[in-house]
Amino acid sequence: MKPMGSIPAEFQGEGPLIIAGKPAEAWIAQAGDTPLFVYDFAIVSARIARFRAAMPAGLDLHYAIKANPFAPLLAAIAPLVDGLDVASKGEMALALATKPGAAISFAGPGKRDDEIEAAIAAGVTLNLESEGEARRALAAGERLGVTPRLAVRVNPEIELRGSGMKMGGRASPFGIDADRAAALAKLVVAAGADWRGFHIFAGSQALDPRAIIETQAETLALAARLAEQVGVTPPLVNLGGGFGIPYFPGEAPLDIEMIGAALGESMTSRLAALKDARFAIELGRWLVGEAGVYLTRVIDRKESRGETFLVVDGGLHHQLAASGNFGTVVKRNYPIAVATAATQGETETVSVVGCLCTPLDRLADRVALPVARPGDVIAIFMAGAYGLSASPAAFLGHPLPAEILAGAADSPNAILTS
Ligand SMILES: *Cc1c(COP(=O)(O)O)cnc(C)c1O
Repeated sequence: MKPMGSIPAEFQGEGPLIIAGKPAEAWIAQAGDTPLFVYDFAIVSARIARFRAAMPAGLDLHYAIKANPFAPLLAAIAPLVDGLDVASKGEMALALATKPGAAISFAGPGKRDDEIEAAIAAGVTLNLESEGEARRALAAGERLGVTPRLAVRVNPEIELRGSGMKMGGRASPFGIDADRAAALAKLVVAAGADWRGFHIFAGSQALDPRAIIETQAETLALAARLAEQVGVTPPLVNLGGGFGIPYFPGEAPLDIEMIGAALGESMTSRLAALKDARFAIELGRWLVGEAGVYLTRVIDRKESRGETFLVVDGGLHHQLAASGNFGTVVKRNYPIAVATAATQGETETVSVVGCLCTPLDRLADRVALPVARPGDVIAIFMAGAYGLSASPAAFLGHPLPAEILAGAADSPNAILTS
């Protein structure tokens, strides 16, 4: 038997799984079939409220859409955040349609000229990833007769310790090396563009608050040094994000109150070069990851050489991350449960495998679960971020799963099926 991560508190309890006040089977009935994703918006809004309470005044919160671009979810989040971060023209169109006039920033290496033009025409801030991109953005602004809004994304010398995905401290396709960032900002200012400041993103999926605190303090110091070199106060310093969630055994939720207190101190004592700057943190995973549950039905139960397999109608084509093939080196078990079990009492050791013809499609490896039979429903938690949109949905040609937003006032039980 191998351990699994802990089920988020909102979904713990005896008996059949309850999501946003209703049993899993009720959501399945509403969707019409399995597999499906259900996102509990109450969890997302509680996260946002907790962030606001923990963080200092003068700090904006942006949502990084790529974590979960489901349109009803985005529509529910948009009024609660100060900005949206996008990484493609498609995400930009979604953001503009959802929150016209919002602060939208566009990051990502390899922005095409048509993406750059669309962003400038819409007043979206481009986070410049290179000198070449800066030249193309300035030229596009001239072609369009529109002053482009440009921020400089910095590849910092800083490394976010213990982060699942390191974005700084090394050669990188993201941003401009810190020692060239001030020169680029100066060029942008001199060219008459609307310089929006710096964007400094050092890593993702960090669970050690001390590492985040250290990184944020270094990020502020770096931004201040750069601002001094530029000689103009950056309107905004985007400190990146990196707040992680506990997927695996032994991991604990992030103490964001501790981070907020420390960030408040660094912001209060910041250097003169940043006195009039605003600050922002952009988050995806931490806001939405724990709100999502992937529900999939057991089709077959089989034995092979002494092991029991539950074969389900979903798989890695919808929830790649749970199979350990998205950003992890070692396969570890996401929290998982039998949603239809009357009690979570007596257990057996089983592997839960998806319906795809590949041995990679293993959603849980030798975990202890209540005895489940064909017809029972398996719930995989932590499915709200980098789930469906980060999975190879076209692989093997199965239908798309439904997605349901539960518990949002504006879009009650918004549902989208394939
Ligand atoms: C992906 C991304 C984020 C969000 O990261 P999370 O780990 O989901 O919070 C933030 N900023 C940028 C630039 C990104 O590319």
